[in-house]
Amino acid sequence: MRKNRLNIGGLVVIVILICGIFWVGVAAIVNQQDYEREARITPTPSITPRTVQITENPALPTSTPTPRLFKMNDVGIEVRDMQQRLINLGYLKGNADGQFGSATENAVKAFQFQHGLKDDGYAGEQTLSLLYSAQAQTFVPTPTPSPTPSMLSSGAQGEEVKRLQQRLSDLGFYTGAIDGDFGNGTKNAVRIFQQQHDLAADGIAGAMTLAKLYSDAAHRIVITPTPETVQVMAGSMPLLVNKDKPVGGDFIPSGLVNMSEYCDSKLVKIKYKGTQGVREAVDALMIMLADAKKDGVTNWQVSAAYRSYKDQEDIMESNVKSYMNNNGLSRKQAESAAKKTVADPGTSEHHTGLAFDITVPNTSVFVGTQQQKWLHKHCWDYGFIIRYTDEKEDITGFLGEEWHIRYVGTEHSKIMQQKNWCLEEYLQYAVLQ
Ligand SMILES: [Zn+2]
Repeated sequence: MRKNRLNIGGLVVIVILICGIFWVGVAAIVNQQDYEREARITPTPSITPRTVQITENPALPTSTPTPRLFKMNDVGIEVRDMQQRLINLGYLKGNADGQFGSATENAVKAFQFQHGLKDDGYAGEQTLSLLYSAQAQTFVPTPTPSPTPSMLSSGAQGEEVKRLQQRLSDLGFYTGAIDGDFGNGTKNAVRIFQQQHDLAADGIAGAMTLAKLYSDAAHRIVITPTPETVQVMAGSMPLLVNKDKPVGGDFIPSGLVNMSEYCDSKLVKIKYKGTQGVREAVDALMIMLADAKKDGVTNWQVSAAYRSYKDQEDIMESNVKSYMNNNGLSRKQAESAAKKTVADPGTSEHHTGLAFDITVPNTSVFVGTQQQKWLHKHCWDYGFIIRYTDEKEDITGFLGEEWHIRYVGTEHSKIMQQKNWCLEEYLQYAVLQ
């Protein structure tokens, strides 16, 4: 009994096994036939034919729908088929839901744009014919342009600043280096460009300025020659010394005189013995102060004139020491603190021997005195300029210094007064001339 039961059980297992083998065999034959059928249709089948076909040339639907117009808010099977086609070609993401929404519209527009059709988002006969044709291309995204800064101003750096400088230079507004640093020269060029293009002249290249600058409406710099500017071009230009244009350590102006001995002490007090200035500038100063006396304005003092490179180094060093001793700063901290008020050696205009700090003896007050008022009104007639004003701080790099005058000669000073140009502006115009 026990043996029989086992035999019956074994028989069942064998029958199942035989059936299984038979079934696998049949399946294999069927599969082989399928494969051969496929192989006849597609001569070179790849491992993943579907994927390859979608990216290269999506399979066309079995029945091409009758072309008609599909547009926003249309719904239906044909819209769904169109969406699927757009999905297969890469123009549309997500599922084909048969509802013509804004994503579908954008996909249609992209398809139209890429195929040179009017990209209105209406899937009309022309669009649909092309969409379902073998000529339909897969979506090629247009490269996103690198973001353009909408504003460039002082301190900005990089390729966009270089481009700005190059453009301003091409138009004659900028004469400095194409270095990608938005400094005072660049700012001044932007300001002049703005003045001549009816834009607010703030020296900041904002969206409107940039749009104008790179448009066809941007014109070359216009300078109306005057008899004075022609004369200026014929002569030598004033020496510029600032943070961007320092003099070297061995720079010594020619024609220095000792002002303590040279100047009439009845007209001016020289605060520090041995103070030197360039003779031509000192002569102009004395003529000016003699005329001031005629106007009843006396009691003048020169508290600074020529400074050598070494002098400026000493001034810097004593300031640093003072910060270290009195404020307990480290040397590094003291140096950065001192640089806020003391010009770096080479960058002080006093190196020229053409600059004077004019004060009133025995008082630290100068602003608002009759001397200051007379000086600011008349210095231009004697070849002097008020070198640093608050108004031009962003160009000169210095806050207003009402006491600091600079000799440039009357042929220059009178134009600068008339045009309200600081020295940097004046030189830029003259060079462009
Ligand atoms: Zn000064």
